[in-house]
Order: sequence, then C-alpha cells, then structure tokens
Amino acid sequence: MNPYLCTLMKNGLQLFNSYTGKKEVFTPIHEGQVGIYVCGPTVYSDVHLGNCRTFVSFDVIFRYLQYLGYKVRYVRNITDVGHLEGDADSNAEDKISKKARLEQLEPMQIVQHYMNGFHDMMRVFNTLPPHIEPRATGHIVEQIEMVQAILDNGLAYEANGSVYFDTLKFAEQHGVYGALSGRKIEDLIAESRDNLKNQDEKRHPSDFAIWIKAAPEHLMRWTAPWSVGFPGWHLECSVMSTKYLGEKFDIHGGGNDLKFPHHENEIAQNYGACGHAPCNYWLHANMLLLNGKKMAKSDGNSIMPGELFTGQSPHLTKAYSPMVVRFFMLQSHYSSTLDLTDDALQAGEKGYRRLMEAQKLLQAMAHPGGGSAGTLDKEINAAIEQAFADMSDDFNTPKALASLFELVTKVNSLKGGQLSFNDLTDATLDRLKQTFNDFIFTIFGLQEENFDSSGDGVVDGLMQLILDMRQTARTNKDWGTSDKIRDALKELDIVVKDGKDGVTWTKG
Ligand code: AMP
Ligand code: ZN
Repeated sequence: MNPYLCTLMKNGLQLFNSYTGKKEVFTPIHEGQVGIYVCGPTVYSDVHLGNCRTFVSFDVIFRYLQYLGYKVRYVRNITDVGHLEGDADSNAEDKISKKARLEQLEPMQIVQHYMNGFHDMMRVFNTLPPHIEPRATGHIVEQIEMVQAILDNGLAYEANGSVYFDTLKFAEQHGVYGALSGRKIEDLIAESRDNLKNQDEKRHPSDFAIWIKAAPEHLMRWTAPWSVGFPGWHLECSVMSTKYLGEKFDIHGGGNDLKFPHHENEIAQNYGACGHAPCNYWLHANMLLLNGKKMAKSDGNSIMPGELFTGQSPHLTKAYSPMVVRFFMLQSHYSSTLDLTDDALQAGEKGYRRLMEAQKLLQAMAHPGGGSAGTLDKEINAAIEQAFADMSDDFNTPKALASLFELVTKVNSLKGGQLSFNDLTDATLDRLKQTFNDFIFTIFGLQEENFDSSGDGVVDGLMQLILDMRQTARTNKDWGTSDKIRDALKELDIVVKDGKDGVTWTKG
C-alpha cells in the first residue's frame, strides 16, 4: 500500500463484512493484492438506474482500492444463461430464452445487444471496466466439472437428469446455510414447501438446482453426464470467481437483493466443491428507490438512464447529466438505500457544479509565496486527512464529500479574499490541489461536463436571458416571439422544460 496513505489511515481500511455483520479491518490474502468479484447483470433487457447504482458503488470501491496502491484484480461477470423467471431454479423459463422467443431472435443476439447497452451505460457513467468479464455460457465445461465435484463430495444428487444441491446435508455438515442472509433452514424448508415446483425431484424443498434438464422447447442446452440441459444460475459465479481469483479470494460484492438465494447458494456450492467459503469479505450495495419504492422494471417503478438524460419521464421536471447522477449517487453510502427524487437530483446538480467550480478556481490559484502554517493551514490539512479517513471507513463517500465541501468553502473564501494566502503554505496549497484532483477524478470517477463550456458562467447567463425574454413574450401573449425562441433553441438541440420550479434547459 501507498506508504503516504498508510500514515493517513491510522485504523487501516475498514470494511463492513455482510457475512459477519461487523466492520472489520481489511487484510488481503496476499499482501498488496486484492481479488474482487462482483455479480454482473443478466443481459436480457436494458439496465435501469438501480443496476447502475450498484455498479457505480463497486466502481468507487475498486477505484479506492487501486488508489491505495493495491494491485487489484477485478472480475465482474455477465449472466447469459440460467437466470430463470422469478429467480426460480426449475420449471420456469430462462429470462434470455424467453426474450429470444418473444422477439424471434437467437438467444446470443439478445445477449450481445443488451451487453453492448450495458457497456455503453457503464462508459456514460465513467465506470472503469473490470479486468476480466467472464460470461456464463463461456464456462459450461467448468460448471459441469463443479457439479461433478459437488456430487463426488456427496452434497448433491441427481434426479431425472437434473442435479440438486442437498441443503439439509450441507447444513448438518457445515452449519452455515443461511448464515449470510440470516435465514434458518427450517424456515426455508417451510417457505419453499408453500411454493412447490419440481419438489418431487428434490429431497428437501430448500434444495436448489445446479444442473437443470432442458425441456424439449428450451433453446439453450448443453450435453452433460446427467442430461442435455443447462446450469443453475448460482453456479456460474462460484465457478468463475474460483477460476479467475482462486478457491479463496478477498472480496465478493453484489446488490443486496442477491444475498438470498444467489449468494447464499454460491457459498454452499463453494463449500460443496472446495470445502470452504469462497471469500473473506462480502460487500453488499443497497437498493436505489424511486419515490420511496425499490426501483424495479417488473412493476413499472423504474427510470432508464436515457429518460434521466433527456428529462422525458413523469418522475422528472428536467434532464440530468450522467455526472450529476454519479455525484448524486456518491452523496449516500453504498450500503444505504438511496431514494431518487427530482428534488434530490436538483440538489445533486447544485453540489456537483459547486464542487467543479471550486476545482477550477483552485487549480488556477498561484501561491504568492511566503505564507505561514497558521490555523487555516492546519484546518485545510485536517480536512484533507479527514476525507481519506472517511473513505477508509468503509468507503464513506458522503462523509468524504462533506470534508471536501469544507475545503470548497475555504477555496471560495481564498478566492473572495475573506481568507488570506499568508496563512497557508505553498506546500499545503499544492497538497490541496492534488487532493481535489485525486478525489474528483481518480477516486470518485467524476468528469468535467460542459454544462457551461465557457467555464465562467457566460453560457448560463445568456441562456437565462433568453429564457426570461421567452417568458416575457409568453406573459404578453406574444406567441410569435416565444415560438421563434423555442424553434431557434430546438435548432441548437437545446431542450427547454417548463417545470413547477421554473424553466430549465439542457443540451439534448
Ligand atoms: P440483474 O441484472 O437483475 O441480475 O441485476 C444486476 C445488479 O443490479 C444486481 O447486483 C442487483 O442486485 C442490482 N440491482 C437490481 N435492482 C436494483 C436497485 N433497485 N438498486 C440497486 N441495485 C439493483
Ligand atoms: Zn453472481
């Protein structure tokens, strides 16, 4: 780890491990290296903003680990087979197969299309690509091998061409089934008994499929010793994390909603094949809500990123740019729910602009020389150290942002003359500049956005003038002038929106 940062992080890097339910000091398996696996998307439809939040959260975690000087290997998979409707494990249709059937396309066309869309969206939000992005369909051989290993270890059984994981036997042998999600095996049995499907093939209702015999109409199928079929959804992540990070790696991440059954079953499979848990730390990102309710496409409570960037959604009064949305996401801790509302996005927009404007002012500042290390100097150094301490405390981005905003106030006061460069050394000003560059671009992954390419507010000012003139024309029922302004702005690809809090504009 970077020795300079080591001295800043008196308590080391602390992570909230969802498996133990405790904040723990992070100790990598191999000094200076981190292996991290994050569950990626199931590519059967466009990613919604909730999915994006999870991947932005892990992007910041990845960035900070790299910033600390760790050599990170980041693996994030693509699920392109085996994820069944309703997260079922048998007798339900594969999400990708279903889409292929409905659209009369080859399943891999569906996969390619939505995977491309996912990658585009990750680029728009400036998330760094993982080092390895394995696909489930590219690892069928390894999945068959893992099913065989679990069978050989006596923790799975075959029934009518499908293979099921024996949860009761696993619970008896290892006593950890349900430990991640806090569920009890008896409750799971009772729950799944109420939801019987293919239960006649299962020894216990809580058992889950690791290989599924394909029905004749099922499109995606491979030959295995037990049947022509396809792997269970959870298996791919056990297989691909083990293949690329080893039987025991450092961090496994994913959305909160994956704790059960997906991650619980992953742990069971790893025990089944390797005799132990896959990783040392589990990190779970919390859900994005829309107006107080979990964002999910299935019940229409979702916003697609495109709707946000154009403002074309009944939930919004205006458009928001990708970096404003990224900043808005950073304003809450990754493990807290985040409620997306128009008001919260507007506040995010103000915060993002304030930060970026201070950044421009700061980088343009030249120290006149000769300043002394007084109170101001101490306060600036303390806030810088606090920002790193916040990030090292389970990646607390909202707290780190609060520390940066203390510094924004100082920058603005230095610019305005309320604070003096005489109370600040040249070295501290340099450190402040470096800190802003590091936090804004390297750790938070924000980018400059040409919300006002003049950089000095001229475009914003002119736009306000034009919109005021349009408003006056409308008030005077001078429709000729107001239409002329609207059409001219449209020509320039500028979208004007009349919201309850006034008129706003974006470049379309
Ligand atoms: P899926 O494509 O359904 O497998 O989901 C991809 C990722 O997005 C998973 O890690 C989910 O946990 C996550 N996810 C789904 N809905 C939300 C949401 N509303 N907020 C945050 N993450 C979500
Ligand atoms: Zn997974």
